[in-house]
Amino acid sequence: MSIEFAPTICPYCSCGCGIYLVVEDGKIIGQEPWKEHPINEGANCPKGKNAYAFLYSKDRLKVPLVKKNGTFKETSWDEALRLVASKFKEATPETFGALGSGKTSNEESYLLQKFVRVVMGTNTVEYVGRLCHSSAVAALLPAVGSGVMQTSQPEIELADCIFLAGVNIMETFPMIARRVFRAKGKGAKVIYSDPRKTATAKYLADIHLPLKAGTDVVLVNAMMSIILAEALEDKEFIATRTADFEQLRDFLCHMNLKQAEEITGVPLEKIREAAITFAKAERACILYDQGICQHTVGADNVKAHADLALLTGNIGKPGTGVNSMRGQISGEGTGDMGCLAVFYPGFKRVGEETAKFFEDAWGVSNLPTKPGLTYIEMLYKCPFLYIVGTDPMMAVPDVNNLRKALEKASFIVVQDIFLTEIGKLADVVLPAATWVEREGTHTYVDRRVQKIEKVIEPPDEAKPDWWIICQLADRMGYKDNFNFSSAGEIFEEIRKCVPQYKGISYERLKKAVGGIHWPCPSEDHPGTPTMFLQKFTTLDSLGHFQVVDFKPPAEQPDDEYPYVLTTGRSIFHYHTGTMTRRTPKLNDEVHHGFVEINPEDAQRSGVRDKDVVTLKTRRGSIEVKARITDEVPPGLMFIPFHFTDSCANVLTIPALDPSCKCAETKVCAVKIEVKK
Ligand code: SF4
Repeated sequence: MSIEFAPTICPYCSCGCGIYLVVEDGKIIGQEPWKEHPINEGANCPKGKNAYAFLYSKDRLKVPLVKKNGTFKETSWDEALRLVASKFKEATPETFGALGSGKTSNEESYLLQKFVRVVMGTNTVEYVGRLCHSSAVAALLPAVGSGVMQTSQPEIELADCIFLAGVNIMETFPMIARRVFRAKGKGAKVIYSDPRKTATAKYLADIHLPLKAGTDVVLVNAMMSIILAEALEDKEFIATRTADFEQLRDFLCHMNLKQAEEITGVPLEKIREAAITFAKAERACILYDQGICQHTVGADNVKAHADLALLTGNIGKPGTGVNSMRGQISGEGTGDMGCLAVFYPGFKRVGEETAKFFEDAWGVSNLPTKPGLTYIEMLYKCPFLYIVGTDPMMAVPDVNNLRKALEKASFIVVQDIFLTEIGKLADVVLPAATWVEREGTHTYVDRRVQKIEKVIEPPDEAKPDWWIICQLADRMGYKDNFNFSSAGEIFEEIRKCVPQYKGISYERLKKAVGGIHWPCPSEDHPGTPTMFLQKFTTLDSLGHFQVVDFKPPAEQPDDEYPYVLTTGRSIFHYHTGTMTRRTPKLNDEVHHGFVEINPEDAQRSGVRDKDVVTLKTRRGSIEVKARITDEVPPGLMFIPFHFTDSCANVLTIPALDPSCKCAETKVCAVKIEVKK
């Protein structure tokens, strides 16, 4: 019997906490805290404490499956890959699309987009970042030149004011919440905007702004209007590091604050208190995520928050910034690697010049130069789909409608570790290895690249995603362009193509506990925890104000659908629940979906706690257990989106932000019916 302690990184959220796995004779039998890891210092949230159980679920995919007469049959890799290659050869650049994953390694994401561009000749390759983070990119590229997190996790403790904008951080990023608690212990004030009275509102916030869902722009514009009226703007910063201030000032000086109070539902005195607290701080930091992004005005919401940071000079120094919190372990990395319809790796925008660069780098010709279809568009328009490590049937709004579209698709290949909801619709299912069954890198929320070592063998015939993609490319006649025998070889190619990663090597990462922050331009560069210290990465190196005005959500409550429905997460589950619902200790905590209903609304509708109710929207209906709580205000209902038995996205609206195609999963109109 041999026991070893293998260091690795938690497979769940993008904090990137270290853990030790206890391995006995090639099987993981437990885990221990990694006290020296700088992100979590031995602490873990419930998910991190139960990081490995799903690996041994009886549901793991272990052999390739091919659907014959509506039933999956086990088959060999050779047969499965031959079939996929022959079908993909029937696709054209217009009919093919691929979805990558925020959970696969950087190397695997890089290889997927290369396969799509080189072999399939299209830029239609996306990942779930489109559904949560594209608003940040659309807003921050013109504002400061990049949509990434601007400060590092440890630097958050330097802030003396932290504005949590629509991020229920205690449940979604628990180890960053720990940093916020530490800052608070040193005197920092915490502002929190969220319609719900979450754990973050109760235990962390000093000033909770319970705004009506979808009114963030008005709230932040009102804060800025007050800051200007009180002459608390950072005049020197505005003069030396920004442009387009006058337009914002002219717009805000006409703002009607009484109307702002009515639209947001937040008392003006509270808005004033938040504005003055933020503006008077030495270092104020904005952290935000899906709460402000998943709207038809998600990009506008981020623009308003960026304006607030620029107005008060809170950007470009440690412990400040307008910081996007990507949820998945490599949510940042998969975007960096180019799984986006408009960006090649390194955020090089799709076009002739970029195609030429990659044609030279990859030794190919005729790379696509036109933007591909975005995430939701491809699912409806592409009859040939390659879905890797993600489940759009749980993540996309209006899934009943999506199901109808996918049932008409010509050929769907799903590559994953479990048979997901989209997997059930597939023609071929390819079994993939998990994060500790192969080596590779991930890039976590603060651009921190960490290396994961292989700890155990994948079960039976399951294979690393990078191996599967190489085999497929080989069978489609592209062996020379995908002739990789290890993840390390792929990473070396990434370093050549992605300037932000140039100075990061496997050798450095093996020694760098806690990883290295990109941009890292050379091997002697320490990495960059804080962005924009001297200048922004816009064309003129200045930060740009962008005026945004209020636009209401796409669907308003009315007589027929009188309530607002919003969606979100639970601390015990992760994204579409594929892994956490197969982790007994997490599933025991919360094993079914629920809807939170305010006591007033419950009384009006005749609902009692734990009743099974029907929630209905114009898209569909689900049955779900009621949880009566004043954590939601009257008129609002909340449902977590992790559960297949009460799939929140049956209800949500497919309205998109026109600037970035992010869907409005945070607001739609709903009604409730009680079974008699
Ligand atoms: Fe894992 Fe995130 Fe929890 Fe850390 S905070 S243990 S990375 S889920």
